[in-house]
Amino acid sequence: MLQPSHQSLQVAAVPAPRVPVRDRNQDAPWHTEAVCRRDEAGLFFAPSKEPTASRLSREEAAKRVCARCPVMVECREHALLQPEPYGVWGGLTAAERRVVLARRRRREVELKKAAHTSAGPIAAAG
Ligand code: SF4
Repeated sequence: MLQPSHQSLQVAAVPAPRVPVRDRNQDAPWHTEAVCRRDEAGLFFAPSKEPTASRLSREEAAKRVCARCPVMVECREHALLQPEPYGVWGGLTAAERRVVLARRRRREVELKKAAHTSAGPIAAAG
């Protein structure tokens, strides 16, 4: 949750109980192996009005936990697909996930354009 345009994240950063949220997702057995199942340190979600320096420090600590988590890839994909608007998931902050999603959308558009361009003449010739 990076600073500038993310004031809403700060405001809405009431930490949802991490495990219950995941337990509601019956299709995601990966969460049973989540290292953060008990986030006693409160690393993954911002408390309200968290100072920037504290937030950056907390997020880095959360990312270190994610780096040793056996389900980091699954967690990250889950957070991207939902999408999860708050907190650190799969080693990415909400802002970082938005960047990844924007890149994916751009790539999808480019691929569709390329497919359309290459399909046109071939379809016409066939
Ligand atoms: S990758 Fe991080 S946020 Fe995801 S389950 Fe593991 S520790 Fe939790």
